[in-house]
Amino acid sequence: MSSHTQVYIGIYLVVDQFLEIDRTKRECENGHGEGRVWSHSRPEPFCGECGSRFITVEYTEKRRMSCHDASEEFGFDIDTFQNIDRGDKPCIWIGNETIDSLTGGEEYEGEFEINPDTIAAAVFDFAQKYAIPLELLNDNDVDYAVHFGTVMYQN
Ligand SMILES: [Zn+2]
Repeated sequence: MSSHTQVYIGIYLVVDQFLEIDRTKRECENGHGEGRVWSHSRPEPFCGECGSRFITVEYTEKRRMSCHDASEEFGFDIDTFQNIDRGDKPCIWIGNETIDSLTGGEEYEGEFEINPDTIAAAVFDFAQKYAIPLELLNDNDVDYAVHFGTVMYQN
């Protein structure tokens, strides 16, 4: 598998939002998990390590909200944004429709001046194209900021 460093210039979202997902897992009172015997159709009743009975434990998984999580949760198209996961740092979302707006794709040769007018035009264009998802983020109190700049990422 090869990956390429992409350089994006333009509008992107910095999304500083966590998702809390209620999950359950089975473990014994000593915290041992079930063995990885997936072929068994019935769950194992007792821990293979200490012999205690397995019980179902509820827990909350906390993770950064990706654009795919948000599209599922709020109901906008899953292909709206590309998610850049940065581990502990807030996720970056780049709009798929505006991703090549400045560079014009691979065949492009030329120049693009970045000045206050072109930035304002890019922000305006972005706000129009993404009015629906942005409104859904606002309505659901998602913590995000719209930035103009460069993003380097692997894909
Ligand atoms: Zn155990």
